[in-house]
Amino acid sequence: MKALVFRGGRLAVVDDHPEPQPAADEVVIDVTLAGICRTDIEVTRGYMNFEGVLGHECVGVVGQAGGAAGKKWVGRRVVCEINCVCGKCDMCMAGLKTHCRRRTAIGIEGRDGCFAQRIAVPAANLHAVPNGVADDVAVFAEPLAAALQIIQQVRPSPRDTAVVIGDGRLGQLTAQVLASRGLRPMVVGKSRDKLRRLERLGIGVLDVAEARPRGETHLVVEASGSVEGLRMAIEFVRPRGTIVLKSTLAVGEPLNLSPVVVNEVTILGSRCGPLNEALVTLANGAVSTDGLVSAVYPLSDGVKAMDAAMRPESLKVLIRP
Ligand SMILES: [Zn+2]
Ligand SMILES: [Zn+2]
Repeated sequence: MKALVFRGGRLAVVDDHPEPQPAADEVVIDVTLAGICRTDIEVTRGYMNFEGVLGHECVGVVGQAGGAAGKKWVGRRVVCEINCVCGKCDMCMAGLKTHCRRRTAIGIEGRDGCFAQRIAVPAANLHAVPNGVADDVAVFAEPLAAALQIIQQVRPSPRDTAVVIGDGRLGQLTAQVLASRGLRPMVVGKSRDKLRRLERLGIGVLDVAEARPRGETHLVVEASGSVEGLRMAIEFVRPRGTIVLKSTLAVGEPLNLSPVVVNEVTILGSRCGPLNEALVTLANGAVSTDGLVSAVYPLSDGVKAMDAAMRPESLKVLIRP
C-alpha cells in the first residue's frame, strides 16, 4: 500500500509498504483524512528516533477486524487514541493509560502511523465519529483533545486570566477551548493572519512585539514550542500561577528558572487528552475549525505536504490517502 515513510533520515512516499496485519484485538482503518502536527515534523528531525509510517491524527472507516473484539466496528467511521497500552502495568492499573510503561504510540513510537492507506490499531482505541461531524472536522479530534487536557489538568475558574503563547494550530484550539469555558484568553503571536482568525472568533490577541508581560496572569499556556515562548510565559505568569507546556520543547540554551522558584510557579507538562470530549465539542460547535485547514494534499504528495506544514504561515495541513 501507499504510505509516507521516514527511514534512514529520509522521508518518502512508497507504494509497496506492507499491508497492516491486525492482531486479534485490533482493527484496520481505511484512512480517509489525516492531519500533520508539530510532532510529525519533530520526528523527521530525530525526535523519539522513530522510523516507519508517520502520522497520528486521522479519521477513517474500519475495514477489517483481526478478531471478535473489533467486529462491531467494521464499517463505522472512527478516530483513534494514539497510545496503545498494555492494560497491566502500574500506570495502566492506576487509570493512567496514556502513561503506560509499555505503550507504543501511533506514528511516534514502536508502531506505524496513519499517513498511509490503512493502519492497524487496537479496537479499544476507537471512538465513533458522530454523523454531523465531517471528516475535515473530525480530523481535529486528536489535537483538540490535547487542548482539552489543559482543562482536565488545571480546572481554571472563568475568573482566571489566561494567556496563550503561540498562534499556531495548538494555540488556536487552546484559546478556543479556554474561551468555551468562560475564560477570556489573550493569544500572543507573530502571524497577522493567524491572529486575525482568532479576532474573528472574538478572542483577544497581541502581537509578540507589543507584549509587555507584567507577572499578572493566572494561567499561561506555552504553545509556541520555542524557548523564547517559555521565557515569555515565565514573565507573564503571576506568583503562584501555572504555566502549561503543550509542546515538546528541547531547551538547548540557558534559561533562567529562578523566577519560577521565587514566584512559586507551577509548571505543568500536558500531552494527550479526552477524544470522546473532543468529538462532543466538535459536534456541538463549541470549538470551530473554520479557517484552520491551510491545504489538503494527496498522499502521493506527502513529502510536499510535510514541507507545507513546516512553513510559518501554515495552520493545519491535511493528507488524503
Ligand atoms: Zn498531534
Ligand atoms: Zn500499561
